[in-house]
Amino acid sequence: MLSSKEIRQSYFDFFKSKQHTLVSSASLMPDSPNLLFTNAGMNQFVPIFLGEKKCPYTPGRATDTQKCIRAGGKHNDLEDVGMDTYHHTFFEMLGNWSFNDYFKKEAIEYAWEYLTKVCKIPKERLYATVYQPDKSSGDPADFDQEAYDIWADIFKADGLDPKVHIVNGDKKDNFWMMGETGPCGPCTELHIDLTPAGDTKGSLVNMDTDKCIEIWNLVFIQMNANPDGTFSDLPTKNVDTGMGFERLASIILNTKNFTDFNGIISNYETDIFTPIFDKLTDISGKKYTSTLPEKNELGYFVAANDQEMVDIAFRVIADHIRTLSFSIADGIQPGNGDRNYVLRRILRRAVRYGRTIGLEKPFFYELVDTLADQMGEIFPELAKGRQHVKTVIKSEEEAFNRTLDRGINLFESEISKLKKGDSISAAFAFRLADEQGFPLDLTELMAREQGYKVDVDGFEKLMNEQRDRARAAQKKEIISLSEIKTTEPTEFIGYEEDNSNEAQVKEVIK
Ligand code: ATP
Ligand code: MG
Ligand code: MG
Ligand code: MG
Repeated sequence: MLSSKEIRQSYFDFFKSKQHTLVSSASLMPDSPNLLFTNAGMNQFVPIFLGEKKCPYTPGRATDTQKCIRAGGKHNDLEDVGMDTYHHTFFEMLGNWSFNDYFKKEAIEYAWEYLTKVCKIPKERLYATVYQPDKSSGDPADFDQEAYDIWADIFKADGLDPKVHIVNGDKKDNFWMMGETGPCGPCTELHIDLTPAGDTKGSLVNMDTDKCIEIWNLVFIQMNANPDGTFSDLPTKNVDTGMGFERLASIILNTKNFTDFNGIISNYETDIFTPIFDKLTDISGKKYTSTLPEKNELGYFVAANDQEMVDIAFRVIADHIRTLSFSIADGIQPGNGDRNYVLRRILRRAVRYGRTIGLEKPFFYELVDTLADQMGEIFPELAKGRQHVKTVIKSEEEAFNRTLDRGINLFESEISKLKKGDSISAAFAFRLADEQGFPLDLTELMAREQGYKVDVDGFEKLMNEQRDRARAAQKKEIISLSEIKTTEPTEFIGYEEDNSNEAQVKEVIK
């Protein structure tokens, strides 16, 4: 397979050949009230798992690619983006589902067949994990002996030692939940050893390294997490799988169909991201060179030189334009309320990284056409909405550009007063947020780049105080407005210009 498009299609074709109905990706705006964004392929099927909706497919099988965002709530990968090669805020999750139809055996066998026969991944590089609860900590469900036995048969049949190729995992890695509540269950995952020799014998599984990457999660949805923290059995047994499309494409394309494991294996080095990088090079004159930062003594990833900084900026900007564009196309705008504010924060990070590669004028919106040209066929909502997406992003960029440089200057002068080991004070971080529109996470990011922390607790305290003051003032205003009778028009000067649907949300940070 030579392109990501072929890889995506091969997944659909495989599962269609196994009687799965191909369905469309759901919107990034989730139906579940406990989610900020759609964060997994299973979100749109929650009512079926809960028995609230009848499964509309015969047989009860579906497949798709789902747009996902993980930038808040239980699944939040924002801080990894740019620093590694395989976590994005926006990604596609390939999935196949069984609604009370097949269960563990078929789910595992299909996954194995797809990866080893269709994709032709060398079997000896694959590792499976199974759920092992810590009962003393009250973990739900039992050790997944059934999944273990199915894998053991598969590995044995291929002459591989199950004791090496099956790795037990705890609740964190092998019991999947979309949020604090909702359908959930034990899972079994597939990981691939990407080292040149491919001989790590499972020692790098779940170690958070690009040398051994998690590619596919098969969840056995059989429980529901209740709001009181308990788990109950669902009436049905279901399968929910999710595979990172960009990761799969990266592994296949970067190893040249598994013939060469000596190069870099990065999602960004695929045709999914290179058009955006090319456009960014056109705009900035800078080139991407694939370097990755190392962690410093505080545990932060820090660029060792200007080129590492440029490479981080390329990855972040290319990631963030996807998050912003797909969200806006789905009707979620940057703004002040919860998910809207997450988008605004992500956009402001991207714009700040633009400064890193010398971009002073609005540039982010210029990437939308490149993305829409590339992805508009598979996600028509992006092709249709591109003009609107551009307009929204451009006006957000312009608004932040008005205060960004002053904020950066203030930040630099504050940093120059600090000694090694100091933290940026809550008062200063608050001032940057309040006066220059710097979200806390941006201040933290800029601080990390220079080896400093921010007094986050103090910041939150100041924020809460400000919120209380704003609430009290609002109450007073409502009372006095009801008392005043005037025909004079009033001039609104209170909030930053905001054309989002959340403009009325009177959050304090703009
Ligand atoms: P990881 O441990 O690598 O963070 P995860 O365990 O959080 O992944 P799951 O919730 O199991 O991920 O999601 C299913 C699949 O989606 C993963 O196996 C992976 O291939 C992909 N995936 C998860 N998070 C991301 C992300 N931030 N960017 C790209 N792909 C992702
Ligand atoms: Mg994760
Ligand atoms: Mg994981
Ligand atoms: Mg996982």
